[in-house]
Amino acid sequence: MTQAGDARSAEKRSGRHCSHWVGGKPWTGEASRRGDIYNPATGQVTGSVDFAGKAEVDAAVTAAAQAFPAWRDTSLARRTAVMFAFRQQLVARQQELAALISSEHGKVISDAAGEVARGLEVVEFACGIAQLLKGGYSENVSTSVDAYEIRQPLGVAAGITPFNFPAMVPMWMFPLAIACGNTFVLKPSEKDPSASLLLAEMLAESGLPDGVLNVVQGDREAVDALLAHPGIAAVSFVGSTPIARYVYETATAAGKRVQALGGAKNHMVVLPDADLDLAADAAVSAGFGSAGERCMAVSVLVAVDPIGDELVAKISERTRRLRVGPGDDERSEMGPLVTGQHRDKVASYLESGVQEGAVLAVDGRSHPAGGPASGFWLGPSVLDHVTPDMGCYRDEIFGPVLSVVRAGSYEEALSVINANPYGNGTAIFTSDGGAARRFTHEVEVGMVGINVPIPVPMSYYSFGGWKASLFGDTHVYGAQGVHFYTRAKAVTQRWLDPSHGGINLGFPVNK
Ligand code: NAD
Repeated sequence: MTQAGDARSAEKRSGRHCSHWVGGKPWTGEASRRGDIYNPATGQVTGSVDFAGKAEVDAAVTAAAQAFPAWRDTSLARRTAVMFAFRQQLVARQQELAALISSEHGKVISDAAGEVARGLEVVEFACGIAQLLKGGYSENVSTSVDAYEIRQPLGVAAGITPFNFPAMVPMWMFPLAIACGNTFVLKPSEKDPSASLLLAEMLAESGLPDGVLNVVQGDREAVDALLAHPGIAAVSFVGSTPIARYVYETATAAGKRVQALGGAKNHMVVLPDADLDLAADAAVSAGFGSAGERCMAVSVLVAVDPIGDELVAKISERTRRLRVGPGDDERSEMGPLVTGQHRDKVASYLESGVQEGAVLAVDGRSHPAGGPASGFWLGPSVLDHVTPDMGCYRDEIFGPVLSVVRAGSYEEALSVINANPYGNGTAIFTSDGGAARRFTHEVEVGMVGINVPIPVPMSYYSFGGWKASLFGDTHVYGAQGVHFYTRAKAVTQRWLDPSHGGINLGFPVNK
């Protein structure tokens, strides 16, 4: 399909009414509550989304629970074949999915295609599930006794996902959960619900049996119904820190296994020996890509003396030249924000930052946006001389605002990062391998980039932050994802041997 064709198809889909996907088909029941879907570039309502209550959530969990026994007994070969077919679908329909995401989220289409590509990598990882589920085997641990360990699926897992990656973050979860033999209920963000339905359709066309993947749309009510449902064994959550904490505490209290990934404040340190042009390019790309609405966006640049002024000048000059416009315009580098309310909140930090003593080096409010005046527009901003006591530093802004903190030394830069409550991602820009190695060793953050501003791990590693950026023990996807969606069973076996026999009340010891 052409880009125009993709955009038309996206408009058609997002113009429709979005509901749930239960038992392998669209839900046809009436909703008692609904929300609006917007096109952030125009500010217009383009569709509506049903909000699930207890009854819809219960129907989805029931469908998943009914599908579980047959799916867990489906051979690894068959499960793998479904994953391979899904991969083909994603490759073939990547642009269509990207246009759909852009029409509801606002990000530029090339960026949306990028998130599909990163989600696709996890699907490819899940295609290797047969290898990943191999357990250990020890022969003759005691005379004629063998021991081995197997990993088995948990049952029905739930995934609750944020607005900023409506395809990639769900694909961090369900491909692996399903490949491991679980069934799944996804609750995507109510702000951009359409991608989840297209993914469910693609999986159905890939041969996934009905009920293995279900989607319930909605808000807090749907989340609470999932967290309280006795049929849910495990919950994967990605979103803001207050909700991640709430989900973790509520679902673990209900006896569920939980991984809840929260918000972030990602610092990029630039040492004086760094290539400043490379660092400026990286800071602008990582700060303003997807309008800063990425959990791995660089939101704080820590410039180590004496390069602060020169670096801020280079960054400001690049920032002013960024092309801001609708996501479906190929010339746009940055789109609008997701909602008008979020745009206003982000803009409020520019005002409060200046009141607290920061210097607005680039003011995004005066940036010429290439879209209609009614869209949710805010240009990229650079807020210099920010200090850790300011609200614009303490809060996760989640928008196109790059704060610059000046540090007198490497040690000061490190202590700023380590004192921050978040610990998702960080980066260091330097030409000194020793300094980079020391930083990697000392920084209290889960994902580190060395001259790489957005160090999102490959699918065969795992993604997760430290401190207030993650509640729970396991990161998502990679080996830790397989671990999260399975539980170990240790088996000790002895096949009858005529030499054994007789009663022995002693504790089994190895002979
Ligand atoms: P959010 O926390 O508002 O929403 C996330 C999910 O929780 C959505 O499905 C939403 O419907 C639901 N939700 C919202 N309020 C709720 C409530 N009171 N009770 C129960 N459920 C509720 O997050 P968002 O605005 O959609 O996404 C942006 C946030 O996600 C940012 O903080 C960003 O850093 C974070 N994020 C983190 C990662 C990561 O990997 N750590 C990745 C992407 C996004």
